[in-house]
Amino acid sequence: MKVNVSEITDSPDLRRVFLEVCHRIYSKGFAAANDGNVSCRVGDNFLATPTGFCKGDLRNEHLIIVDAKGELVEGKYKPSSELPMHLAIYRLRKDVQAVVHAHPPYCTGFAAAGLPLDRCILPEVVMTIGSVPLTSYGTPSTEEVPLAVSEVIRSCDALLLANHGAVTVGEGLMEAYFKMERIEHYAHILFIARQLGGEVLLSSEQVEKLYRLREESSAAGLNAGCWTCDRLFGGECPPEGCPLGYTPGSKPSTGEDLSGVVKAAKGVFGAGDGEEGYGF
Ligand SMILES: [Zn+2]
Repeated sequence: MKVNVSEITDSPDLRRVFLEVCHRIYSKGFAAANDGNVSCRVGDNFLATPTGFCKGDLRNEHLIIVDAKGELVEGKYKPSSELPMHLAIYRLRKDVQAVVHAHPPYCTGFAAAGLPLDRCILPEVVMTIGSVPLTSYGTPSTEEVPLAVSEVIRSCDALLLANHGAVTVGEGLMEAYFKMERIEHYAHILFIARQLGGEVLLSSEQVEKLYRLREESSAAGLNAGCWTCDRLFGGECPPEGCPLGYTPGSKPSTGEDLSGVVKAAKGVFGAGDGEEGYGF
């Protein structure tokens, strides 16, 4: 189910879907204790999870609404200390309506091992998500995390946070959640393939066919392709170069100063910290 929140304001339907996403995150084991956070646009503001709550226990009265600076607009609870990461993403990606952050075990295992999910192995992942890059490490609840995410989020819809977890974005809440489910499934399968002797990469011809299908079907999202195509395409880039225009071995980060994007929400750093604990 895809819910475009730009078409629904803060409706009961939106809150129902929001809570459904939170409950699925916990029931699928994507976040332990009070870990993980979810948000979506509601006009110029954002519906978000409060800090300190287990996603499996969240009810409507726990949800909060914050503005673009992270100030509380509605609700009784404090925002998550990871809210600035969400706000930085919304600032950089006007198309993004929802952000999901969790710690699914296989994705987080790859993130802890320093391994991005950026190889063309599963057709459905190439078609729907593309590369899942690994950001540089950031201390949770500091501006290091939104900065690291800001460097890659304009080129992908899913990413791994080094030694931490994963982030997915979408044009709707369920879409962002399903991307999280899909990359966790992908990481799980890749883990099994490596126990069995290692994955077999799709060939450049196979990948290009998928890219063509992807373009024809106008699959949603950015579908970042080959960021390290010297490795993706069976050890070699196609002679004509990467179909998506990336230079072999290059990363989408431009090296520009993104601190302004993060500073806009700086006032809320630490806002969610305290007796309830951090909102990892
Ligand atoms: Zn986290």
